[in-house]
Amino acid sequence: MTSTRRRIEALFPTYLEFWETICRLETPSCDRAALNQQADVIEAFSAARGFSVRRQHYAAAGDTLVIELSGNVHKKHIALLAHMDTVHAPGAFGEPPVRKENGILYGPGVFDCKGGIAACLLAMEALAAPNSAYPTVKLILNSDEEDGSFIGEDGALFIQSEARGACAAFNAEAGRADSLTVGRKGILTAEIQVFGKAGHAGNAYFQAASAIREAAHKIIALEAKSNEHITYNCGLIHGGSASNIVPDECRITVDVRFQNAAQLQQAMKALDEITQNSSVKDCRAEWRKQNLRPAMECTAENLKLFQTVLQTALELGLPPLLPMERGGGSDSAFTVEIGIPTVCSMGPVGRYEHTVREEADINTLADRALLLAECIKRV
Ligand SMILES: [Zn+2]
Repeated sequence: MTSTRRRIEALFPTYLEFWETICRLETPSCDRAALNQQADVIEAFSAARGFSVRRQHYAAAGDTLVIELSGNVHKKHIALLAHMDTVHAPGAFGEPPVRKENGILYGPGVFDCKGGIAACLLAMEALAAPNSAYPTVKLILNSDEEDGSFIGEDGALFIQSEARGACAAFNAEAGRADSLTVGRKGILTAEIQVFGKAGHAGNAYFQAASAIREAAHKIIALEAKSNEHITYNCGLIHGGSASNIVPDECRITVDVRFQNAAQLQQAMKALDEITQNSSVKDCRAEWRKQNLRPAMECTAENLKLFQTVLQTALELGLPPLLPMERGGGSDSAFTVEIGIPTVCSMGPVGRYEHTVREEADINTLADRALLLAECIKRV
């Protein structure tokens, strides 16, 4: 057994307790106070393990953290990523929010992705053994990954400024038993606003122009453009004021997914076309960007890094892993965007993220920490 594995086994109970503790602090992306309270806990825990911690404050979001293990070998640093927010409203899991049963941890964020925070810190502490050689490791913890609109573009710039110059990035997002992530779709959230002409539904029906009818044409036309590379989901609509009034306004919120920058341009052109052309006389429309996360493009460098991770996993006796491209976004997009080879979904294995059934396999905390630690030494 390697000394890293022995160290991880010895540290495991402390980190399992830490994992449970941060999951009990329920932290939806919108709750700045709860996120800052959790950041206090993570900061104190990390400082007690000998890591240096820096905090970045935001007026409208929780603090982000950079936790650093200063290396003793002369080489580029390694960036680790995870996030501290969840999609769950406080109380959604009942009381107590976190429970353990038959080797499985249940609770808000156990899988996506507080298990990843614990795995990264455990890997860092395991690396920092006396007489061992390791590079500098920077763990960058986002407080607004799930929503993205509270910090906005500054969030991406912050991650990129901390990760820049790294020889590799590992994102400890929710892990799968049989695969890691080498590519992810980007997400453009856009609002289309349709304007019509209001009128009495009985007396002026034919003189008025229904913004909702025009929106219906646009939804059908836009979603018809979806294919295996780019998809348009009109997931929210708001319009009208009463059933006896021809509506003069309707807003559609569209979630656009794409695989690379060229497809994003293509999608924006499609939104231009859809808004410029009206089917209902006297209606007009415009669209605006609400939020944009670039795609984690599946680069040759990501695939090469994946091969290193796979080889390491097999040598450690861990299950084989496949390289996957996924539809869900993550912060890995930002490290790939600045040319850093990145592998995502390195966190503990679990299931049912973004639902109240969210769960994670407790023992995979040790497996994934070991994999992270050995990969950090190897790349
Ligand atoms: Zn996540």
